[in-house]
Amino acid sequence: MIREFHQISLRDRNSFGVEQRAAHLVEFETPDDLREIFARGIPPRWMVLSGGNNVLFTEDYDGLLLTPVARQITILEERGETIRVRAEAGVEWDDLVEWAVERGLWGVENLSLIPGKAGAAPVQNIGAYGCEAADTIRRVEMFCVETATMLTLDAAHCGFGYRESVFKHALKGRVVITAVELELSRTPRPRLGYGDVEREVEARGGATLRNIREAVCAIRRSKLPDPAVLGNAGSFFKNPVVEAPVAEALLAEYPDMPHYPAPEGRVKLAAGWLIDRAGMKGHREGNVGVHERQALVLVNYGGATGGEVIAFAHRVRQRVRERFGIEIDTEVNIL
Ligand SMILES: Cc1cc2nc3c(=O)[nH]c(=O)nc-3n(C[C@H](O)[C@H](O)[C@H](O)COP(=O)(O)OP(=O)(O)OC[C@H]3O[C@@H](n4cnc5c(N)ncnc54)[C@H](O)[C@@H]3O)c2cc1C
Repeated sequence: MIREFHQISLRDRNSFGVEQRAAHLVEFETPDDLREIFARGIPPRWMVLSGGNNVLFTEDYDGLLLTPVARQITILEERGETIRVRAEAGVEWDDLVEWAVERGLWGVENLSLIPGKAGAAPVQNIGAYGCEAADTIRRVEMFCVETATMLTLDAAHCGFGYRESVFKHALKGRVVITAVELELSRTPRPRLGYGDVEREVEARGGATLRNIREAVCAIRRSKLPDPAVLGNAGSFFKNPVVEAPVAEALLAEYPDMPHYPAPEGRVKLAAGWLIDRAGMKGHREGNVGVHERQALVLVNYGGATGGEVIAFAHRVRQRVRERFGIEIDTEVNIL
């Protein structure tokens, strides 16, 4: 079933809480709904707006927004310790994590409390605390707009990388993800080697699924602003990946600079550290600022427009460039 809205406010549909409007928004459940919508013609401008936790509207959206609302989670197959699970695109990601933890299924617990829907998880290959969606996603079901057909893409063809996938590139604006298929396991596989996870898990009595979920939730709550209280879209910037000599030169000057190995001999730097050392952590201009506890997060203190957020982000990038000669790119989708 579809529900249509015209000239609708997006304020409660984006975690930044910016007040923009969309000309047309349709909530849909099934592939048939999508067929019905696109049978009217492919609009010149359209996109999927799921939970709106990774978008920044800088102006009114003069096209069609599609919001998935189907929320079923189904077990497809149990083979030994391995369980294949299908989640429809409108399932809250964290509900899926809770569902898995309740059933003793390992694989997504470190991704607890990431806001957004399951259908959006493969788009930027959500990740946290040393894990990412690509660790468990095996297939992605999608509606191809040009052909009005359903297709299934194996993970091997999803182009998963650090906050990357084919859905941000070759398939952007061409498909609507309708469900994801995950492979979870009954075999315990605690992954504790990131940040404070191990300490928090030990404080709760050891590496059970429930303890890991609770530890991750507690850490996130202590570090990240709740969008319901303070508008934000999580990490506004991506961690930059640089060539090894660039990292070496910086390390000679800043020996305490966090750095991590990246594919092809490159080095991943921590954008939050760069922003902090550029003197921007906690910095506020009008209604926009860098969060005081997490320098990667830009916040809307209330009433900021998307344009103000972008202008502020530009100044943060500029300060990092001037101080370190490093470009930091945005993770959030700017519209
Ligand atoms: C407080 C906070 C903390 C966060 N922490 C993390 C974190 O730890 N790790 C992390 O990776 N991210 C994090 N994020 C970012 C965000 O949670 C993820 O990007 C999430 O996947 C967004 O889901 P959404 O449903 O809100 O997607 P939206 O913001 O609605 O959409 C994001 C993009 O995906 C596309 N898209 C969404 N659904 C579909 C679909 N069904 N088919 C095709 N395209 C689609 C949209 O068109 C858009 O381009 C955080 C955000 C916030 C606000």
